[in-house]
Amino acid sequence: MRLILLGPPGAGKGTQAKMLVEKYNIPQISTGDVLRIAVREKTVLGIEAKSYMNRGALVPDQIVIDIIKERLKSPGCENGFILDGFPRTVAQADALTRMLEMIKASIDYVISIEVDFHEVVKRLTGRRICRGCGKGYHINFDPPKQEGICNDCGKDLFQRDDDKEETIKNRLEVYKRQTEPLIKYYNDKGIVKKIKGLGSMEEIFNDICQQLERD
Ligand code: AMP
Repeated sequence: MRLILLGPPGAGKGTQAKMLVEKYNIPQISTGDVLRIAVREKTVLGIEAKSYMNRGALVPDQIVIDIIKERLKSPGCENGFILDGFPRTVAQADALTRMLEMIKASIDYVISIEVDFHEVVKRLTGRRICRGCGKGYHINFDPPKQEGICNDCGKDLFQRDDDKEETIKNRLEVYKRQTEPLIKYYNDKGIVKKIKGLGSMEEIFNDICQQLERD
């Protein structure tokens, strides 16, 4: 199964992608994760991407398209994948269609997770990540046992630069202008499944699975 997860930043795409990986045994491909690793490792890609990411802008299309092109060739993607954070523009979506056509494949479903922007700001500003193992927390909804410290590995938690309030506003603007049109783009192909992004992550996950298994 080839899936795309769409939704504003903070909709829970990453969390749902990880749960879908377990259930359907297909890899998650997150352009955000690939870019963050490159930034941390200060590679050429990372150095170029950092300035865009820190101000909540999109990294240029060709850069992310090249990342996906490489990743789709790697072992494990033959039977399907979950794209999380890609495509984010119509140009990226068109490039993806062409890449898949080359291997006579197509996207089966686009899961569009719907959350209002006010809720997203609340979620993102409280988000914290473990510096050691990458586990995610939320200062109000899912706090660690000891403030600022990971329950699992004991390393300290940090806030992503792009989860600061000014940057979030920009990311949401960018989403509205450049990514939201993709819902119509894929709706015209009849493959969008709309999911309400409010409730526990298990409830949202069950809703996604039911919709996928309905067909
Ligand atoms: P994410 O973790 O998916 O919210 O991505 C974090 C940041 O990485 C975004 O705000 C963008 O700067 C960049 N990024 C991730 N995926 C893409 C993409 N498909 N196109 C352009 N920029 C991206």
